[in-house]
Amino acid sequence: MSTIEELLASVEQARDEIVGLHQALVRTPTINVGPRADTGNETAACELVASKLAEAGIQPEIIESAPGRGNLIARLPGEGRRLLFMSHTDVVPVEDETLWEHPPFSGTIDRGRVYGRGADDDKGDVVAHCMALVLLQRAGARLGGELVLLAAADEESGGRWGAGWIAEHHPDKVRADFAINEGGSSPIQTPHGLIYPICTGEKGRLEARLTKKGRSGHASRPWAADNPVPAMAEAVQRIMAYDPEIDVSHPFFREVLEALGVEHVPNAENIDRICDGLTDRPALATTLKAASRMTITPTMVEAGVKSNSIPDRIHLTCDVRGLPGQDDRYVREELEHITQGLDLEIEVDYTAVSNDSPADSSFVDLCRQSLGLALGHQEFRLAPAITVGFTDSRFLRPLGTQVYGFAPHHPNAEPARTGVHGNNEFMEIDSLLLRTRNAVALACLTLGVA
Ligand SMILES: [Zn+2]
Repeated sequence: MSTIEELLASVEQARDEIVGLHQALVRTPTINVGPRADTGNETAACELVASKLAEAGIQPEIIESAPGRGNLIARLPGEGRRLLFMSHTDVVPVEDETLWEHPPFSGTIDRGRVYGRGADDDKGDVVAHCMALVLLQRAGARLGGELVLLAAADEESGGRWGAGWIAEHHPDKVRADFAINEGGSSPIQTPHGLIYPICTGEKGRLEARLTKKGRSGHASRPWAADNPVPAMAEAVQRIMAYDPEIDVSHPFFREVLEALGVEHVPNAENIDRICDGLTDRPALATTLKAASRMTITPTMVEAGVKSNSIPDRIHLTCDVRGLPGQDDRYVREELEHITQGLDLEIEVDYTAVSNDSPADSSFVDLCRQSLGLALGHQEFRLAPAITVGFTDSRFLRPLGTQVYGFAPHHPNAEPARTGVHGNNEFMEIDSLLLRTRNAVALACLTLGVA
């Protein structure tokens, strides 16, 4: 019999072990260079974590989607609900090692932080989840439901060899009632206390390709040809001037702005003015703006083969980020409307479908309770948020799992995580321990423990 308090205390006792595992994982390079089979080498990371689990008497599985592309699955059995801890083992490449304060795969400890590529995104989660299972198992805790761990490959290049592959080929191994995944992370300090975001939904990513056909000809006699470039230039102008539908109905807007002391209730008319006023919080301001609307951003133009020839066609590619519910049909209709009269061909393709889980779920309330136990106080608010990027959560939600981006950082953690996908990535040891305590508490609260 172990109480939640005893289990939480065991996290502090395992501090060196947790930090050591994290350093060892950071020292195992799992660099993912793109959407292809022969990269990542995540199996090496899986083996490291698997041996830690095996030492404690847990028998994990490593399932490879391709040679070297291991996905780690482990479970603590129990009858009842199922809770899934999701994370990923791959990391983005390092651009210029010389710009790093400590070598990026050294796992150097400095100022209470572990430095290295992947330290934060997302090896901190892998370690916190693994150690939660280990500590529960060592304590002989009997859970009233099943706790499952998935440390997936390939998140950084779209998940085709990772969570996407597992959800397609082994859905029963990971399907759960509830799951937590990366996201949420840094609390927002406000005059009315701490706010912890919990990500309930993600924008989708689509790609729109617009084509204008003309008639080629010699550039010295432009009247004899039909140059498609001006029409596409006009399309770009109109896209940049596009006024998307604004939706600030998600509770995140109200909760955060209220806590920041913004007097006005956010609505479609005032949200831009409110965001422009958050001059001391530029990151939050752009997130709120991006979370309130679809964005269509021209990113690539292709036309012509020679400078003295009028091209017979021009292509424009746009990155499109849609809110939950804004699908490819919606994007196409909006683009048709924007480019009316220009006679363009429009193709819309998905990278990730926008997706969400209910913000008012009873599980969100359990997350609030577990974070309170992990922090040791209740002086914070948990605010449902939308993430403007996308994660592996989108593969689990269609399986019927309620998934939340809930990987809290310590209140003293650096709020601007510029090292994630940048130079000098690090993870505070305090955050590592907080996250492990949170995982232990959440398992106990969600599944029951004896
Ligand atoms: Zn990540």
